[in-house]
Amino acid sequence: MIEHPGRASLESPPDTRLSDSLLPSEPNGLLAGLAIDSSCCLNPDCDCQQVMLDVRDRASDQRFLVIVPLDQRAPFIQEPRPDGADAVLQELRNHLGKSFWDEAARAYQAAKEYGRRHPWEHLTFERGVLVPYCDLVAPGPEEALEFTCDGQAYLVLDMYCLLPDCDCREVLLDVLCLRPIAPGRSKAEPFAVTYYDFATSRFTPGPAGPLTSHRRHVMAAFLASRPDMKAYLRKRYDDAREIGRRVAQRGGFVDPEPRQPPRTRLLRTPLPANGA
Ligand SMILES: [Zn+2]
Ligand SMILES: [Zn+2]
Repeated sequence: MIEHPGRASLESPPDTRLSDSLLPSEPNGLLAGLAIDSSCCLNPDCDCQQVMLDVRDRASDQRFLVIVPLDQRAPFIQEPRPDGADAVLQELRNHLGKSFWDEAARAYQAAKEYGRRHPWEHLTFERGVLVPYCDLVAPGPEEALEFTCDGQAYLVLDMYCLLPDCDCREVLLDVLCLRPIAPGRSKAEPFAVTYYDFATSRFTPGPAGPLTSHRRHVMAAFLASRPDMKAYLRKRYDDAREIGRRVAQRGGFVDPEPRQPPRTRLLRTPLPANGA
């Protein structure tokens, strides 16, 4: 299957749910009036081997979660369990046939594969930390920002702020110089770190200060390395912002670890407000 990785990055999981036809329903029995929704954990590094069924009573809106182990051990209820849930669970168990288990295994594999290609769906992000694009969407090699200038190869890591309520409109570019160390292998060395401001279409100083003229020359070559580079960066920025909104929706931002107070506080010298 060929897909456009950049575009696919924001799709919802297409095939990671059990098809409704395999989820038990009966017109008059205990399961009537229930809505059953399936999901699998998307973290490719988690070997949970289970499918979750979110069982909801349409009338009372009462709900509980059934864990379905893929090794076909009996499904069980994750606490808390409302009244009557055990009887519903028993009825559910009676209805799970071979096609259900086959489909559950397929959906689980599809969920992990989706999670591998869409890391932002299962990662948590520290508030205020810039995130490399390649950590968000696992782009294909054709989307790596590589270019050459004066015969020297460079790799650019483009890093974005994900916070939905922040209006920074810039990307931090971490530029690495690729030094060949063996045929087909190279070592990446820090070369330059700079912001690119979408509002002004200009480079603005990164943590290490303004670019030297040599670095400006190299960064001009970067911008010229594809005809639509400015629009392309802007698209990746827009992708990152959309990802940030979705991460916020599922509560995927965490507060930064509290840092040790700087020793200079002991000197009682007030620091400049901007920390410079
Ligand atoms: Zn898991
Ligand atoms: Zn920001």
